[in-house]
Amino acid sequence: MKLDDVLLYPALNELRQQMGTDQLGDFRLFDPQKMLNYSERESLEQAQLRLSAADLKVLKDKTLAYKNSRLWVEHDDKFHLAYCEQMQGVRHRQKNVRCGSEQPPEELEVCLQCLSLLHYEGVDARRIRRNEFTDQVQERFELDAFQRQFPFYPLL
Ligand SMILES: [Zn+2]
Repeated sequence: MKLDDVLLYPALNELRQQMGTDQLGDFRLFDPQKMLNYSERESLEQAQLRLSAADLKVLKDKTLAYKNSRLWVEHDDKFHLAYCEQMQGVRHRQKNVRCGSEQPPEELEVCLQCLSLLHYEGVDARRIRRNEFTDQVQERFELDAFQRQFPFYPLL
């Protein structure tokens, strides 16, 4: 995204003059403790962000996040979207995990425990015991659709 150069707006410049400010402000809104920097965002988009599971945040809705972004976490041939039992173990043992924010690699399947925890699209603990149902969910799962319900970035 390209931001317009506000210095090119005469009305804003006039306002700035009226306020008697000839110095441009030094805005430090970026907090690296809480916000992803550019390279972290890039790694996350490329599913190459590696971190200790201890650094993962669990949001109120039980989805997983790092700093100001939701994400998926790879573990045991699956990608996890919420704080399911497996993720609790992984976080507790402070394992190193790979995370991403775009469509995960094809060899990974979505974790149904996570979807059940989020009550995503009618997935619940009882239904995930039926193989036919789980195959369907796994086949049809689209990260894009999931992100419409749980937007990944930026978290406010
Ligand atoms: Zn899971």
